[in-house]
Order: sequence, then C-alpha cells, then structure tokens
Amino acid sequence: MQALKYARAASVDDAIRLLRDGGETARVLAGGTDVIVQARERRREIHLLVDIKRLAEVSALAVGDAGLEIGAAVPLYRVYGDADVRRRYPALVEAAHVIGGTAIQGRATLGGNLANASPAADSIPAMIALGGGARVAGPGGAREIPVAEFCTAPGRSVLQPAEFIVSLRFPAPAPRSGSAWERFIPRNEMDIAVVNAAAYVALDGDVVAEARLALGAVAPTPLALTDVAAALVGRPLDEAAIENAATAAAAAARPISDMRGTEAQRRRLTGVLVGRVLRKAAARARGEEVVA
Ligand SMILES: Cc1cc2nc3c(=O)[nH]c(=O)nc-3n(C[C@H](O)[C@H](O)[C@H](O)COP(=O)(O)OP(=O)(O)OC[C@H]3O[C@@H](n4cnc5c(N)ncnc54)[C@H](O)[C@@H]3O)c2cc1C
Repeated sequence: MQALKYARAASVDDAIRLLRDGGETARVLAGGTDVIVQARERRREIHLLVDIKRLAEVSALAVGDAGLEIGAAVPLYRVYGDADVRRRYPALVEAAHVIGGTAIQGRATLGGNLANASPAADSIPAMIALGGGARVAGPGGAREIPVAEFCTAPGRSVLQPAEFIVSLRFPAPAPRSGSAWERFIPRNEMDIAVVNAAAYVALDGDVVAEARLALGAVAPTPLALTDVAAALVGRPLDEAAIENAATAAAAAARPISDMRGTEAQRRRLTGVLVGRVLRKAAARARGEEVVA
C-alpha cells in the first residue's frame, strides 16, 4: 500500500478545495471498494483520499413524483432496500443487487461505480436506460451530466479537476413503463460482466412511446444504443421488433476478445441479453409479474 493522506470533507466547498489543493493524485473516497484496492495494488498514484461520506448532500435518497435522487455516498444496500425504488426503478435494483456481494454492497456506491468508469461497470447501463444524470460540483460551479455522456475511455470521464459527483438523478418513470437489467458472468457472483444490458420502455397501448437501451463490457465505455432504441418507438413491442433490436444491438457492440470472453461470444450474448431485458421491461410495463 502506498503512503497516503486522508481528509474528511466538512462541506461540498471543502471537498472541492481539498481536491483542488491535492491536485492530480487526490481522489474522492466514497465506499472505497475500488479506490482502496487501486491504492493497495499501486494501480493508480494516490496521495490523498478526500472522504465525502459525512456530507448531507451526498447521503440522502429521495424518491417521489419528481423522480429519484441518490446521493453519491449512499451505499447499494440502501438503493435496493427502498420499496419505492424497487417498484419504480427495477433495472437499477437488479444491478445494485449483484455488485460484489453483501459486504461490498454495504459500502459501494453508484457514484463510485460511475466515476470509476470501468467499461464493465454493472450499474452504468441501468443508469443510462433510466435516463440518469450526475449532479456534479466543482470549482466552476454545479452542472448535470447525462450518465450516457459521462465515461470517455476505460477509467476516464468528463469530470474536470476537483469536480465530484454529488448525486444521481433519474426522471419519474412513465405510467405504463418498465425497466430491466441483466448480465452474463461465468460464476454466480463476485465476477466481472462479460456483457451486461439494460432496457427501459414506456408503452402507449401496445405501441412503444419511449425506449432506452444500454450495454456494458462491449466497448471502451458503456454504450447507449440510441438508434436501436429509437427504432422501437411507434411500433408494437412484438417478438419481431425484439429480435430486430437484439440483432441491431449485437451489430452495434464493439467488443474485444479477452480472458473473460471472445468477441464473437460477446456479440452473441449482447443479442440474447437485449432480447431478455426488452421482454422483461415490456412485461413490467404491462403490469405483469416478473421474477427478477
Ligand atoms: C470483491 C469486489 C467485487 C466487486 N464486484 C463488482 C461487480 O460485480 N460489479 C461492478 O460493477 N463492480 C464491482 N466491484 C467494483 C466496486 O465495488 C464498484 O465499482 C463500486 O460501485 C465502487 O463504489 P465505491 O463507492 O466503493 O467507490 P470508491 O472505491 O470509493 O471510488 C471509486 C472511484 O471513483 C471515484 N469516486 C467515488 N465517488 C466519487 C464521487 N462522488 N465523485 C467523483 N469521484 C468519485 C474515486 O475517487 C475512485 O477513483 C467490485 C469490487 C470488489 C472489491
């Protein structure tokens, strides 16, 4: 483990000041389930950890008619433990439920999963499908960044020096809507996704009024499938439409072959998972019981 300093931020402005004064080797500490491992293995040069966990702004979870706001230090177990979040944002709950295991979920946050910017991060496709945005604070003031535009390369994001995520915001789901998330991993738990996928659909009668689709682990960043989702709108979500979307998603994926899977396997899995999340999201939109 490299020697590093720890500072607990007393306010949002204090966190910005600590990060600015700490320069490039200062890092936010949320749950620590990525950053402490990275410091211990010297994968990143880190000289200062700025703990944001005690700030009121990053510790709240609020869900209501206006949507959902999850503070950047809210651990995953609070996300899936909230009955309203479970009912209205099932894609997020499905992802949060399998990140690491129970011990990891007691510490790890959605903000950390996003800021770490892993191409295989499990919650990011769910957040994209749910139309999420990251509320960010920094020396230049506050701004909101769509989650779909947050990651720029493996481990890199649009965050500017001394900026940090305060909370994640999601719009209220439409009345006849549903969402779903799935991943493929070789083991049942504690593994990195070979592919993950998320969908959100809103129906008007039998016709798709709104759709969002996203993938993970098939490109250098999580991928918003904007065109594939747009092609679903205005048509019934029947098997033909789902198969078309699955085929188009597999074509849009840009996977590599690595120790966890080959390019061909990832493309095939992309089609399978997109089909599954669309069927599941559509069933939820129709009010059918779906086993998670
Ligand atoms: C055993 C184990 C299993 C895991 N399994 C999974 C898995 O199944 N799926 C998965 O996706 N991940 C997994 N992870 C990775 C990790 O748990 C997640 O990425 C987690 O969500 C990170 O959140 P955190 O709060 O712990 O982040 P931290 O470790 O605190 O931070 C991660 C990075 O984000 C930065 N950061 C944190 N919060 C903010 C913020 N608010 N603003 C700006 N920057 C910030 C930190 O500086 C650091 O660079 C696993 C990790 C372990 C150790």
